Amino acid sequence: MRYETLAVLAGLPEDPHGAVGLPIYAVAAYGFPTLEEGAERFATGEGYVYARQKDPTTKALEMRLKALEGALEAVAVASGQAATFSALLALLRPGDEVVAAKGLFGQTIGLLDQVLGPLMGVRVRYVDPEPDSVREALSERTRVLFVETVANPALLVPDLEALAELAEERGVALVVDNTFGAAGALSQPLKWGAHAVVQSLTKWASGHGSVLGGAVLARETGLWARFPQFLEPDLKGRVPWEALGPRCFPERVRQLGLSLGGMSLSPFNAYLLFQGLETVALRVGRMSQSALRLAEALRAHPKVKALRYPGLPEDPAHARARKYLTAFGPVLTLDLGSLEGASRFLKAIRLLKAPNLGDARTLLVHPWTTTHSRLKEEARLEAGVTPGLVRVSVGLEDPEDLLALFQEALAAV
Ligand SMILES: *Cc1c(COP(=O)(O)O)cnc(C)c1O
Repeated sequence: MRYETLAVLAGLPEDPHGAVGLPIYAVAAYGFPTLEEGAERFATGEGYVYARQKDPTTKALEMRLKALEGALEAVAVASGQAATFSALLALLRPGDEVVAAKGLFGQTIGLLDQVLGPLMGVRVRYVDPEPDSVREALSERTRVLFVETVANPALLVPDLEALAELAEERGVALVVDNTFGAAGALSQPLKWGAHAVVQSLTKWASGHGSVLGGAVLARETGLWARFPQFLEPDLKGRVPWEALGPRCFPERVRQLGLSLGGMSLSPFNAYLLFQGLETVALRVGRMSQSALRLAEALRAHPKVKALRYPGLPEDPAHARARKYLTAFGPVLTLDLGSLEGASRFLKAIRLLKAPNLGDARTLLVHPWTTTHSRLKEEARLEAGVTPGLVRVSVGLEDPEDLLALFQEALAAV
């Protein structure tokens, strides 16, 4: 079945009362009538025990996410950060190396540089995510190649298929942060060969800026048989790769991230995200049309020094966006030429200014002084962040109203 059908039907549980919709299990623990049954549930991991590991509401969300991105398994977690952290915990050990794209989401760089580097002894190299630079940076100890579907706010798209091929050949896991892929509505990196996807569901999947959530998705692969943590006996004496096959990776994410790490998603949030997924394709389709309308109308505006939108034929990301995305997406950037230009524009525009993406409302942000302000100047410029840059996450307002508001604000610059 196609995306929009799965978005409303996949994961919907059968309910004893015939409820049409997803019930919220606001429950911490699940009982068992006998000692034997308790022992069985603990031994096999089947059934429910305690909501830190899994609960029926979150399970339904996982089933839906898995269907939407054609994954073998999905693990829902508390936020996008929790997804990145738990996936990397499952794949890395001290002494291992990560090759990561330059210009990643700020907190991902923070996680690598402040946690995995100094506290876990993992070495990180940042490169342009082009196959040649990646090939040069890979070593015997590289375990993970980490990229984003669309870099933010540089809006560049990596060649996922070529990177997946290279990763496979070198025994490295290609992990893609697919937040900009909008839960598969815009992009499905697992189908291009990524071994794992991490994503923030806070953005387009939720769709209303009302809740935090994240997920780790895994595909069918033999790669894990090349990772020592899946070949050594666990506490129960079983070898994860032999006992679980390709499910050993999502199981380790569940064990380290949820059971031990406690980065669990609340069932209330799972419910809201489950509902958000029902309209994500509609929303990002409409937002992409509005973003294209704005980009076409404003690209030659005399006050706009540069405008980036992958949907414009002259845009550097256009060819890859055509290949890897189903639409050109809800995000564009305008460069007003200077800090002062950006400041005047943001003062004048009668829309919301906030560091979020994927809200039903259009949100604007000035990365230089907010999301990227902690980076050194060279690092900001390298990530495509200039003093005049404004990032726009287009919402569901009428596109002609949006255009009028942009034109009004540009007149004030
Ligand atoms: C927002 C975001 C995250 C982090 O997600 P949270 O749900 O806020 O923790 C990670 N990656 C990208 C690309 C994001 O935009």
